[in-house]
Amino acid sequence: MISLQSVSKLYNEGRPSETTALSGIDLEIARDALTVFKGPSGSGKTTLLSIIACMARPTSGRIYVDGRMTSGLPESFLAKERRRTFGFVFQRFNLIRGLTVMENVLLPTAPLGGNPQADIDRAAARLDTLGLGPKANVAVEHLSGGEAQRAAIARALINDPPVLIADEPTANLDTELALRFLDIVAGLRAEGRAVIMTSHDARIWGSELVDKVVSMRDGRLDEGTS
Ligand code: ADP
Repeated sequence: MISLQSVSKLYNEGRPSETTALSGIDLEIARDALTVFKGPSGSGKTTLLSIIACMARPTSGRIYVDGRMTSGLPESFLAKERRRTFGFVFQRFNLIRGLTVMENVLLPTAPLGGNPQADIDRAAARLDTLGLGPKANVAVEHLSGGEAQRAAIARALINDPPVLIADEPTANLDTELALRFLDIVAGLRAEGRAVIMTSHDARIWGSELVDKVVSMRDGRLDEGTS
């Protein structure tokens, strides 16, 4: 579903501070799979995730999402591709304090201008599935860590993206919540979604729920990744 061909990324190109964050990455990412990028800090995991999710452009190389080439798209098209294809869960969840769970979950629907009642119904159904129905009208600052995590997942899924992207989503969670996160996202496979996450957390990439571990070092894929 996602294909990378010879993808490289330089930061500060041509300046003394030039950094090669990614170097000649070839990778295929399947639908219905939970893929984890692992590697030490600075190995390029976040950069790779950002490029796949149309948040940044590669310096060279090509990226295809469902056969559509996204590398080289102008910004307005890239933003459209980002909105229709990807849902995001951030390390600190980035829920907006002062808004309720429902209001947070509905935030990504705003740019699409769809049917507000249909959006609310979809949000309510997802919150129910995640066991958060009773918390829909609670301000997010009153949620526990596990509830905040599930609210963030509900928000990431509200526009029904085929791909869920999560950057170090378990870095601030205790073991029980980290495994619960994995359980939930592994369940999204059954809905036909791809889940791609970064983690340097052995609890995550050691789990049997993970379909593919992509190991990175110094901006390259480690031997053994296929
Ligand atoms: P990881 O997620 O594995 O920690 P990153 O993708 O964040 O790795 O970083 C890869 C390399 O690119 C590192 O050397 C980092 O310092 C550098 N880098 C990341 N983002 C930027 C940026 N915005 N500007 C300059 N260098 C960056």
